[in-house]
Amino acid sequence: MEFVIITIFPEFVEQVFKWGILRRAVEAGKVSYRLVDPREFTADRHKSIDDVAYGGRPGMVMMCEPIFKAMEVLEAQDALKESRRFIHLTPTGRLLNWEIAEDLASNDQLILLAGRYEGIDQRVIDTFADDEVSIGDYVLSGGELAAMVLVDAIARFIPEVVGNEQSVTQDSFSTGLLDHPHYTRPASFNGMEVPEVLLSGNHAEIEKWRRQQAEQLTRLRRPDLWERHISGKSDGNGKRSGGK
Ligand code: SAM
Repeated sequence: MEFVIITIFPEFVEQVFKWGILRRAVEAGKVSYRLVDPREFTADRHKSIDDVAYGGRPGMVMMCEPIFKAMEVLEAQDALKESRRFIHLTPTGRLLNWEIAEDLASNDQLILLAGRYEGIDQRVIDTFADDEVSIGDYVLSGGELAAMVLVDAIARFIPEVVGNEQSVTQDSFSTGLLDHPHYTRPASFNGMEVPEVLLSGNHAEIEKWRRQQAEQLTRLRRPDLWERHISGKSDGNGKRSGGK
């Protein structure tokens, strides 16, 4: 999987590939990335990438030309893969969730377009975007953090990126429920004890406890997920269905 990220702050975005699981994935060749700065594709000496909005509204808009030019150069370099999706990060996009991340992980290449200012000239979106994704109902000052969130969430679904494969299938949302609480040593800390069942060695009881905790948490915190879970909208593996 290659992530191509179009951003005016490439050094900032690059940080997501420099730490933890993603750094190891890059080193192991499971994930690669290319950072494309629209400023490199400007014609004027100020390297302008924004201009005032037609119709008169405060704030600037990212211009068409540098992004079109960047795409042209990628095409000319034969850097665009057959199986790719171009995603515009925007608060007006569909809300990112587990299923969207899993679905996007099946592509060979994801081109992520991070906006700034009031956003990007609509003609860029109309020409290139296959999808528009929001990471939540709030407005960030730029799409870089959203792109980084997307990269991290998607990379977890790429085979062998997460060390213990099982942890992905046991995480929150994968079974339609939130995850249960976790404990590690010591068994007693500052008068707080690890639930006894976890020390019992009885795997059936441990599984039962975890399931009960997961169900209780989901019911309390995410009634929307709980409703979906009990209405049986899941596939044979207990995975959630739909949402694409
Ligand atoms: N005028 C836009 C609106 O009201 O929808 C907000 C523009 S925002 C200040 C600048 C850029 O940040 C956007 O172009 C987008 O790329 C990014 N952005 C902001 N919030 C986001 C979110 N919730 N999800 C994804 N991207 C977001």
